[in-house]
Amino acid sequence: MRSFRTLDDLNPAGLRVLVRVDLNVPVENGVVSDATRLERILPTVRNIASRGGKVILLAHFGRPKGRDPKESLAPIAAALASHLGQPVAFAANCIGSVAAAAVAAMQPGDVLCLENTRFHAGEEKNDPAFVAALAALGDVYVNDAFSAAHRAHASTEGLAHVLPACAGRTMQAELEALDKALGKPARPVMAIVGGAKVSTKLELLGNLVSKVDVLVIGGGMANTFLSARGLDVGKSLCEHDLVATAREIEAKGEHDLVATAREIEAKAKAAGCEIMLPIDVLAAKEFKAHPGHRIADVSDIAADEMILDSGPKSIEAVIVRLQTMRTLVWNGPFGAFELEPFDTATVAVAKAAAALTRSGKLVCVAGGGDTVSALNHAGVGDDMTYISTAGGAFLEWLEGKPLPGVEALKR
Ligand code: AMP
Repeated sequence: MRSFRTLDDLNPAGLRVLVRVDLNVPVENGVVSDATRLERILPTVRNIASRGGKVILLAHFGRPKGRDPKESLAPIAAALASHLGQPVAFAANCIGSVAAAAVAAMQPGDVLCLENTRFHAGEEKNDPAFVAALAALGDVYVNDAFSAAHRAHASTEGLAHVLPACAGRTMQAELEALDKALGKPARPVMAIVGGAKVSTKLELLGNLVSKVDVLVIGGGMANTFLSARGLDVGKSLCEHDLVATAREIEAKGEHDLVATAREIEAKAKAAGCEIMLPIDVLAAKEFKAHPGHRIADVSDIAADEMILDSGPKSIEAVIVRLQTMRTLVWNGPFGAFELEPFDTATVAVAKAAAALTRSGKLVCVAGGGDTVSALNHAGVGDDMTYISTAGGAFLEWLEGKPLPGVEALKR
């Protein structure tokens, strides 16, 4: 039995179903520029509506300080209607008489979107009075917003304590994929962690070394580890100033990033987790596309060079190791993938992971921040077992932290 309830445990017929969704989509000049998140909520909305439930959507948009027409959900509700292929009514407030009247007018199968929950301070404060005002509009609560589940807000957590609650289809898919990747994974498991800064991913690395068999560190983060191994990384992004001053701090016996990198290496060794760092890299003197670069050994970086991607030997080593793995968890690109040719390692490893996943040899779960765009850039976004579009929530899950919105759904 699952640890949480799903739509299969709910008979929504005739019920007012408050559904927390993620409508925090990118909007340019009033037009939704990427509808991925809208597409992801359709299965839940259709499931409830087709079984005669009244679908009342709750969501936040942006970070408004009070009511702000620029952050209204009205245009997004309209965009949702065209993706859904049925009308989506809109109420200009998510609580009170306006919302109550809109709910009262609903027929079974109707869909209503309530205005931005963050127009009320009680949302982020998880204020019991605000929770009660939301709860008054519904009979049951469905949470389909994994991406907001790391926040204990009224609509993401509070409601689950006052109404019968279950996970929507997207939340369910996300939790099942994550469980496959790190909860009860097929072994051996590899994690690839790349991206810009070590400081933002320390907890994540610390958690992963105790859970995975191989940890591949790439991107700007790898530079801090190379530095910790005593290598000179020139003017690479490696929170270099921090590291430089950290060395001085270290001399005084205080904590620093280089020391933390060493601690992570020691923790990995104790846990039997192999850490793979780049062996060779693409180095350049300027941070731009096609700057003129060379393939260099990690021990051979000049003072005026920066590391912008992993090199061919490193890519080969990762792919050879990946072929022996059964599960891959991926967060963060290997290089500055927005600038050619520094997308080479990310694209090559992504294509290898996609081929292994397609042939059924690998379960590959990826997500967080730029990872989705990096994998889409490699043209393999649809080939992974699961791609999480959640940023912060995916990273907090990788850190091993309980997510309040998920905890509140547990039986
Ligand atoms: P994150 O949001 O932490 O996943 O970081 C993603 C960003 O890291 C992307 O914008 C990449 O361009 C950047 N990045 C990855 N590797 C490097 C590198 N070696 N040097 C500079 N930036 C990098």
